Amino acid sequence: MMRQTETTANLSPTIRAMRSAAAAPRLAKDLAGTSPAPIVLPVCNAAPSATSKAATKGMMQGTVARTVNCRGVSLHGGVSTTLTIMPAEAGSGIRFRRSDLPAQPFTVADWRVVSPTPLCTTLVMPDANKIATIEHLMAAFWAAGIDNAEVLVDGPELPILDGSSAPYLQLLSDAGYASQKTARRILKVLQPVRVQDGDRWVELLPFDGFAIDLEIVFANPVIGRQRYSFDGSVGQFTDALSAARTFGFLSDVEALRQQGLVRGASTDNSVVVGPDSILNPNGLRFDDEFVRHKVLDCVGDLMMAGARMQAQVRAYKSGHAMNYLAVRQLFNTPGAWAWVDAAAS
Ligand SMILES: [Zn+2]
Repeated sequence: MMRQTETTANLSPTIRAMRSAAAAPRLAKDLAGTSPAPIVLPVCNAAPSATSKAATKGMMQGTVARTVNCRGVSLHGGVSTTLTIMPAEAGSGIRFRRSDLPAQPFTVADWRVVSPTPLCTTLVMPDANKIATIEHLMAAFWAAGIDNAEVLVDGPELPILDGSSAPYLQLLSDAGYASQKTARRILKVLQPVRVQDGDRWVELLPFDGFAIDLEIVFANPVIGRQRYSFDGSVGQFTDALSAARTFGFLSDVEALRQQGLVRGASTDNSVVVGPDSILNPNGLRFDDEFVRHKVLDCVGDLMMAGARMQAQVRAYKSGHAMNYLAVRQLFNTPGAWAWVDAAAS
């Protein structure tokens, strides 16, 4: 059973600030301009507890210590969706299951079942079913040191929550961390791999650790050119990346909604960019929130390799589809990669 209320006493300052901001009276209209967007905050069913931040660098696999769930609107479908995260046995990976379908089909989060789309990362399941917008949760799994979990979702898309990974990271903190008795597997990049599409590109380079250097360029003057270097640490992810929100352009909204997309988008769960200003009443969380979110997306997308990656990532004007192509190119290049135990990496 989910509790409908919760105390904020033990939540991180970041989460408390986000929730109080979201609970404040909304000054901006729903993007559709016709009805107010729903305000649905994550509702957790577990008592808060500390997550072992050292777990991410651990040599052994990890899972959540207990089941947790949350509920929120989906970004594209715009429907209320419940997500449940349960412990899973070592070696099983991150498995997603559609709890709303009679057969409850499931799939492992893996690049081989990804449908590359520009707007989100989608898992294609048996019988043409799907689970979309998984990247922010996958990034939170990366940061929380979770290798194995079963994720139940009662619809075709995860809840967007506030548009960042921070609520998912808090949920995983609430769940607690359980170390397992099996060695963690790392995907080690042995040779450079590069994918390019026009002037967009992603490179995966051999590196003694994990790092991302990413640059974006948008004609819109609100974003312009932004570059960010991530040192691969859990601390930097938690403090500087996890709260960076997804973003979209007001000028694109109508066309995307005609395609059945971004129906749940609002200033409560996205940074909305107008011709020369941000529409969100509380502004940005970081001056360069846009590129920070792109790095967050990249962390989540690379988890679709099936394990944490040991590599330096360099990217220019990249997105979900390009991240997927880089992972695919890596696996399709003989000699460019190897599985190694974390202890040997
Ligand atoms: Zn994103």
